[in-house]
Amino acid sequence: MTTQNERIVSGMRPTGPLHLGHHFGVLANWLKLQEQHECFFFVADWHALTTEYADPKRIKGFVPGLVLDWVAAGLDPKKCVIFQQSQVKEHAELHLLLSMMTPVGWLERCPTYKEVAQELSGQKDLATYGFLGYPVLMCSDIILYKASAVPVGQDQLPHLELTREIARRFNFLHCPENAPFFPEPKAMLTEEAKLPGLDGRKMSKSYGNSISLGEPLSEIAPKVKTMLTDKNRLRRADPGDPDVCNLFPYHKLMTSPELCAEIREGCTKASLGCVDCKKLLMESLTRFLEPVHERRNALLGDPERLWAILAEGNDRARAVASKNIADIRQALNLDF
Ligand code: SF4
Repeated sequence: MTTQNERIVSGMRPTGPLHLGHHFGVLANWLKLQEQHECFFFVADWHALTTEYADPKRIKGFVPGLVLDWVAAGLDPKKCVIFQQSQVKEHAELHLLLSMMTPVGWLERCPTYKEVAQELSGQKDLATYGFLGYPVLMCSDIILYKASAVPVGQDQLPHLELTREIARRFNFLHCPENAPFFPEPKAMLTEEAKLPGLDGRKMSKSYGNSISLGEPLSEIAPKVKTMLTDKNRLRRADPGDPDVCNLFPYHKLMTSPELCAEIREGCTKASLGCVDCKKLLMESLTRFLEPVHERRNALLGDPERLWAILAEGNDRARAVASKNIADIRQALNLDF
């Protein structure tokens, strides 16, 4: 039986079609969470504006595509709330209110602020008010729903700590000591399964080394054939090492443990060649992706349903958000 232990909020930016790296890094965890918790998953289109403000039309096209990828991967709108951030305007109001009480120093010391600004320097001017303040928007997204937990990877912990600090500050300034308004959401640390790209670098569409969730199997097969394997295994008769092979992490995620054990043995004893190993991987990929493609095609054949899922999720999210924002206005004496 499902037990609703925590209220969880998490989002993704609509920046293009999702690939296997997104699936195993984030979505696979969401699929588990929706079975046990009350989950709100949102398309973070306003967040995408922090870096795409000069060309926002791209974002619009990616919104339905992201929801399509989510539902095709197995997110079930009956088990979780799927919504679009910009359709619940309370996110913007809370962002403004929290901006008034968040010290600039807290934002400037946020480690990802400098990292991302440096990474994209030369490509985008990120010396903007919105980019500096995006952790406040992120905080608003979470505490607007009074989330009790947030699924995060180790590297996102500083952001969550900032959210907790802002929530604490609001409670300190505006609530009686024994009646805090916002819970301080705790980190639900997730084991991120990192899947390398086909060439061994980080999987990314821009590197051309990814397999997207909606890609036809006929296009995936030639990609698998050219995948990087153990570089030291020069001949078929040489023993290989699955632990340094770029392909084996894919098997670990999509092939049965029994077959993985056989592959490991075959590889290290040179009784299994890389060509056959790749054929086995293609079988695993087919098994994994077929149901995803089935759900995807059903949705593509009924686009109204996709919009209906989003509209219903927006309503459900708005119902919670509007009640909470009314209480927040009251706490701030802004309930005119
Ligand atoms: S047999 Fe498989 S695991 Fe071993 S090196 Fe070749 S592709 Fe990698």
